[in-house]
Amino acid sequence: MNVANNVSIIKQKIAEACEKSNRKAEDVQLIAVTKYVSIERAKQALDAGITNLGENRVEGLLYKKQVLQNKATWHFIGTLQSRKVKEIIDEVDYVHSLDRLSLAKEINKRSSRQVPCFVQVNVSGEESKHGLAPDEVERFIRNLEPYPNVQVVGLMTMAPHIEDESILRNCFKKLRVLKEHVEALELPYAPCHYLSMGMSNDFQIAVEEGATHIRLGTSLVGKEV
Ligand SMILES: *Cc1c(COP(=O)(O)O)cnc(C)c1O
Repeated sequence: MNVANNVSIIKQKIAEACEKSNRKAEDVQLIAVTKYVSIERAKQALDAGITNLGENRVEGLLYKKQVLQNKATWHFIGTLQSRKVKEIIDEVDYVHSLDRLSLAKEINKRSSRQVPCFVQVNVSGEESKHGLAPDEVERFIRNLEPYPNVQVVGLMTMAPHIEDESILRNCFKKLRVLKEHVEALELPYAPCHYLSMGMSNDFQIAVEEGATHIRLGTSLVGKEV
């Protein structure tokens, strides 16, 4: 496992996907998901030029952030329990998993600043996945108005864990169309310019379909334990 080598391979693939879809590589943020790996691997990612780190557990994020003491931008990508919001909300730069009003209410209450959040959408409709159904998203975002510390910067999804490229592409496309719909509402608290989609197995398709934030674990820093 050579993290620097992985980073250069992944950047090349991002560049290819951008070329194919007429996009600029600078418009794609690469988030290294370090939930499966040690501090050592996370350090290697930073040394290789990664600036965005993602964790799906409150404890994991707080621990890595403390030990690394660095200038990374921190993304919380996992299910966030309301009772843990107060521990983490001032430690993260982005929350990718806003999926219910009670969570918005808690973020609003516990944070002293506007928190950039992605609304998580369950595009594929799989029961195992968190997130709002696509047809609930507009109403949900309209209902966020009373919570000024919650800023909707974009939408996030996890595609099904399959190989079928047309199904994956369709899932990402649907999220993009929905993002454009919300963006067009021009709600002051929901600029919604971003799309957090694409993981190790599907990020090239996600980038071709407009991803602005891709979340890569296994293919970037590997998987330990
Ligand atoms: C674990 C995880 C990832 C990274 O998954 P890989 O397949 O290892 O790239 C991305 N997003 C979320 C929400 C995750 O939980």
